[in-house]
Amino acid sequence: MKIPKTLRTFCPKCKTHTEFSVSIYKAGKRHGARWGERRQAERKKGYGGQKFPEQHNQAKVTKKTSLMLKCKECSHSLQRKGIRLKKAEVA
Ligand SMILES: [Zn+2]
Repeated sequence: MKIPKTLRTFCPKCKTHTEFSVSIYKAGKRHGARWGERRQAERKKGYGGQKFPEQHNQAKVTKKTSLMLKCKECSHSLQRKGIRLKKAEVA
């Protein structure tokens, strides 16, 4: 699906409709030395270390794509709810 580069929507900071630039959300890089990563490594140690079930049988064929919007007036960013798409591109 092609997503427009800009769209007009409500900005909660400006309290009015403004132009937003659109980008696709990408998860940040994982850093092994961070506290959450070290805690998870500690949990997983030893016999029976997995603390929550790992999912093996995937029912869905698509992943959710969420959009990051950035206000052109005040550069406030907001995230749109994820929608299921096979392919998303900002065009
Ligand atoms: Zn704004």
